[in-house]
Amino acid sequence: MKMMGKNVLTVSLASVLALGALSTTALPVGAVGNGPNYNGNESIQTSMLTTYEEMVDYLKKQEARQEAMKLEVIGQSVKGRDLYAAKYISNEENPTIVFVTQQHGNEQLATEGALEFIKHLGTGKTKNVLQNVNIIVVPMLNADGAMGDVDFSTNDYVAAGGRHLTRTNANDVDLNREHAKEIIDMEPEARAFYENILEKYKVDYLIDLHHQGTQSAINDQYVSGSILYPTNPNVDPAVVEKSRQLGAVVYHQIESKGWGLLGKYNGGTGSNIGRNGIAERYNVATLLFEMRGMSDHFYEPYVLGQKSNGYLIRQSVETLDAAVKAIADGSIENVDTSFWDTLPFQRNKASEEEGE
Ligand SMILES: [Zn+2]
Repeated sequence: MKMMGKNVLTVSLASVLALGALSTTALPVGAVGNGPNYNGNESIQTSMLTTYEEMVDYLKKQEARQEAMKLEVIGQSVKGRDLYAAKYISNEENPTIVFVTQQHGNEQLATEGALEFIKHLGTGKTKNVLQNVNIIVVPMLNADGAMGDVDFSTNDYVAAGGRHLTRTNANDVDLNREHAKEIIDMEPEARAFYENILEKYKVDYLIDLHHQGTQSAINDQYVSGSILYPTNPNVDPAVVEKSRQLGAVVYHQIESKGWGLLGKYNGGTGSNIGRNGIAERYNVATLLFEMRGMSDHFYEPYVLGQKSNGYLIRQSVETLDAAVKAIADGSIENVDTSFWDTLPFQRNKASEEEGE
């Protein structure tokens, strides 16, 4: 079904941000969960999303501006795009957290949030944080999918706006199913992430940012996202508990805002999924965060109109921000994880979700 017009709402994401869409006062209570839901009239537009080239430009500008930030090319995509990591390593003794976005190329708002977060790190406010925690941000890992530069057809994808975004990489491989392989056998994007991040640093925490479909709900309300810790039986229970603490920090931050509603993601136990495989292989505490609604897909119920963009980007920024603060001040080690025992699994109001 491609009934939505290819009309172009020529408002750029940057201008939406500049207009204060992300300021707390502009956020109606319950907006993400109850509000903007694709209704057949809302435009689904990719032209407002940051392109790969714009992202690279942005990262280079931030690096020039920020003394603490080092930008590194960690490898190349199938189509030869340089893959980047933004690193803040002040002291190798500090705990280290990694954020990765867009293993699935059609899940872009988490990247927009990560870029905003990087800008925040350049403001004086985060100085104390950066002295006590090492941060590595890997945005848009599946750069080819994000740009729709893939070796398969995107003709049936629903979004308008000049570019399509695909879940899989240019070879049509799902990067979040590569995690149980020998590193040398992985697709280039996953291999870059392993060789130059996971093998190179002693990582303590990792948040893997994704987007799910639009129809998931708890207590009959649409959720703004869902979270899950590693569930593979081979993961050390202490690592699982640390992961639950990471989840608790994020959960309490989002819930405290009034506009977020999180459910528990009903995820698999396979080591081929990053949440499980990275925890198992490296004893890294991991959290899967699935934001509501994808940027593009051939299956319309997965795709969310742009009215929710501001909230979902904000949700990403709050997630990253809360995690680094709680690690920097050590409060993450004492956080109460009991909410996990009562957090309802989200259920799907309409159709099955695509996997994490
Ligand atoms: Zn995903």
